[in-house]
Amino acid sequence: MIQKPRGTIDILPDKSALWLDIENRIRKVAKKYGFGEIRLPTFEVTELYNRGVGDTSDVVQKEMYTFTDNDNRSISLRPEGTAGVVRSIIENGLCSEAMPLSLYYLISCFRYEKPQAGRSREFYQFGVEMFGANSPTADAEVIMLASDIFSELGLNIRLEINSIGCPDCRPKYHAALKEYFASNIDDLCDTCKGRLEKNPLRILDCKSPVCSAIAKNAPHTIDYLCDDCKSHFDGLQNLLSKSGRDFTVNSRIVRGLDYYRKTVFEFISDDIGSQSTVCGGGRYDGLVQSLGGPALSGIGFAMGLTRLMMVLEAQNKLPELSDSMDLYIASLGEKAVSEAFKLSVALRNEGFKAQCDLVGRSLKAQMKYADKKSARFVLILGDSEIETRRCVLKNMSDSSQVEVSLDEIQSIINHIK
Ligand code: ATP
Ligand code: MG
Repeated sequence: MIQKPRGTIDILPDKSALWLDIENRIRKVAKKYGFGEIRLPTFEVTELYNRGVGDTSDVVQKEMYTFTDNDNRSISLRPEGTAGVVRSIIENGLCSEAMPLSLYYLISCFRYEKPQAGRSREFYQFGVEMFGANSPTADAEVIMLASDIFSELGLNIRLEINSIGCPDCRPKYHAALKEYFASNIDDLCDTCKGRLEKNPLRILDCKSPVCSAIAKNAPHTIDYLCDDCKSHFDGLQNLLSKSGRDFTVNSRIVRGLDYYRKTVFEFISDDIGSQSTVCGGGRYDGLVQSLGGPALSGIGFAMGLTRLMMVLEAQNKLPELSDSMDLYIASLGEKAVSEAFKLSVALRNEGFKAQCDLVGRSLKAQMKYADKKSARFVLILGDSEIETRRCVLKNMSDSSQVEVSLDEIQSIINHIK
């Protein structure tokens, strides 16, 4: 038997209805904030991620699904959404439109990671990107959008924010971090030893217990911010407070990808184990330019949908969806079968969920099937019903019955609507 690859999931019809409902509610919130959907290729040239995500990030260094295609090009399955969106807005000339340019996507991403609860190799993300808005109001708006999604779903998820500075103030912070970690270098994991020179910020994000214990006493980014970054961060905090959105400042939050600057944030739930970040994002003002576009600022986030589902389950907020059928038409005998088919077509044309028997089951088996599919009504057709043109319509909720005419579809509709 061929099995699915490790770290992937099958979403079967009993669950896909749930996913669809959640996705639709997410879309509704995004629309309310004026975001339009963008749909992009699942794979891009590898260079986009090397430049866009950054080659010191774990994602690019260790986790990408990269292959050479038949034309000898290096191609990678998308490990995240932002780089592709930036490539697309540059390529399609959207950078000169009225700003802000607000886009969202619902995509699957691919990372070669160790599969565990809340971490898979193909996973689903809802993400947004807002371009061309530099002010802290834009940061607040994007954060409130994520927050609104959680409220819409009835969830309680805490928000942690930080500022990691800009190319002006970060070198000073890097130097302080380097000095701090260099004094602990023997205890750092091998990956972090390598990070010390290239990108010491990343050590703060290391999941190894020893490195994170050392990171606890490391210098804080917010103590090194330049005036511009500091007032931006203060402005954001003011706006969030005024909107009534609770948050804490956590100076350990640096985010896993290289392109972030100034604001970074995470929505975290303690209800789903150690993969607790449901949504992460931040500002990436240099990214569009570094991928060959104009100097256009950007801010966005990505929300992991599998983790979101886990929180919904843990906080008992999974929606109860009914998947009932309006009418099942049971039939016995050749003429009845074709009459049932004709009727089901007519009723579907009127907008009802109607089905007839397609597999030639016994009447008893058909009734069992109707029950399993939660049919609200059942119509039973046999030879005598075809002859008299009258038949019994059964209401499955109270077992009451009425007689209806097969030639007056409106009378059937009046009962089932
Ligand atoms: P993590 O800290 O969990 O490694 P990350 O920093 O790699 O996350 P991002 O690249 O910012 O995460 O992705 C945004 C969101 O996508 C995460 O907060 C998480 O909810 C989800 N996510 C990331 N990687 C995975 C994965 N392998 N499986 C499932 N969800 C994931
Ligand atoms: Mg990760």
